[in-house]
Amino acid sequence: MSIIGGVRTSTAADLRSANLSRALRAVHEADSPLTRAELGRRLGCVRATVGALVSDLDALGLVRERAAETTGRRGRPSARLGPAEEGPVVVALEITTHAARTATIPIGGAPCDVTTEALPGREVDAVLDTARSLLARRLDTLTGRHAGVGVAMHGLVDRRTRRVLSAPGLGWADLDLDVLDRLGLPADRRARIDNVANSSALAESVRGRARGVGTVLYLHAAVGLGGALLADGRLVAGRRGLAGEYGHLPFGTGDRLCRCGNRGCWETSVDQVALAEAAGRDATPWTAETVAGEVLADGSRSARDAVARTASALGRGIGALVTAVDPDLVLLAGHAATLFAAASERVHEAAAAACLPLHRSDLPPIETSTLGDDAGLVGAAESVYAVLLDDPATLMTPWTAA
Ligand SMILES: [Zn+2]
Repeated sequence: MSIIGGVRTSTAADLRSANLSRALRAVHEADSPLTRAELGRRLGCVRATVGALVSDLDALGLVRERAAETTGRRGRPSARLGPAEEGPVVVALEITTHAARTATIPIGGAPCDVTTEALPGREVDAVLDTARSLLARRLDTLTGRHAGVGVAMHGLVDRRTRRVLSAPGLGWADLDLDVLDRLGLPADRRARIDNVANSSALAESVRGRARGVGTVLYLHAAVGLGGALLADGRLVAGRRGLAGEYGHLPFGTGDRLCRCGNRGCWETSVDQVALAEAAGRDATPWTAETVAGEVLADGSRSARDAVARTASALGRGIGALVTAVDPDLVLLAGHAATLFAAASERVHEAAAAACLPLHRSDLPPIETSTLGDDAGLVGAAESVYAVLLDDPATLMTPWTAA
């Protein structure tokens, strides 16, 4: 038995597999293609070992070494390691309240060919038929290169059963829906589904602002407000994966009825519908994105007051959650990020007023996501890569969606 980089191995085959996994993960998670020297530093390996690993990954068709463009400096530029052009990919699918979106995500994690199709209605069959056909068309174009499918759902997903329980933005309640089966995907670990906030937070932890940060409170708002807690890069998902439903904490400024059936939920004072209503405009869950955008762009006094009140409600809840989890970073996405950009002082003031006094002079930084609208897709793919990268050989095993 030997130990390499903290990984215990008992056979030469295990050792090779563990080292290939570490090397491929390093290539996958790097911000830009690595040179052999950079890979060696990350792995703590000598040059000869790195050479053997690169050669193995190339032989598996996972990684290719390409000559770097000349920089004008003296000396030969080092070749860089990136995904093989016709290598395996993961397909990501996101089902929002308005649309189904899909992307192809190769090793390296950058989404390609993002395609969006509007939902024809909000009934379960209409939504899933649209998503299934969009996904099938994407898989057809990949001619067997797909190694797994990750789904990000704007709804609550039970991680134990992998079933969707509700999707308030779509008007779905009291469900026990096997979305993966309805999409025609096999019931194995290469097909993953999770709530979009969990997926997005995972993306932030692997390749976004949350990377390397200890405790991160992630909040995403649109129609509704969800979130996730990251501890040292891992999601604190709870018993069933239902943690992070912060929008349903009773932090609301009134006792307005929430889509969940309770009254006074935080999201009824913060989300896009709340902002529209604060400005005296009619909005449904399906028009709220547009109406909220109009309010934010409107310079009138009443619109600015509505933005300020909604931003204060966002800040008050953040203050309470800072007291609860003492994060190193509060990371905002979607409508929460937009609201913060429009009225950050209001958010800060309200957070400081609501948190425990000892946090007041030392609030954690409140920042906005840098991954933007693709975070859900990226995270859905990362949940599949988390499985595949443990054993790079599985990436080369054909996987067929039913
Ligand atoms: Zn609620």
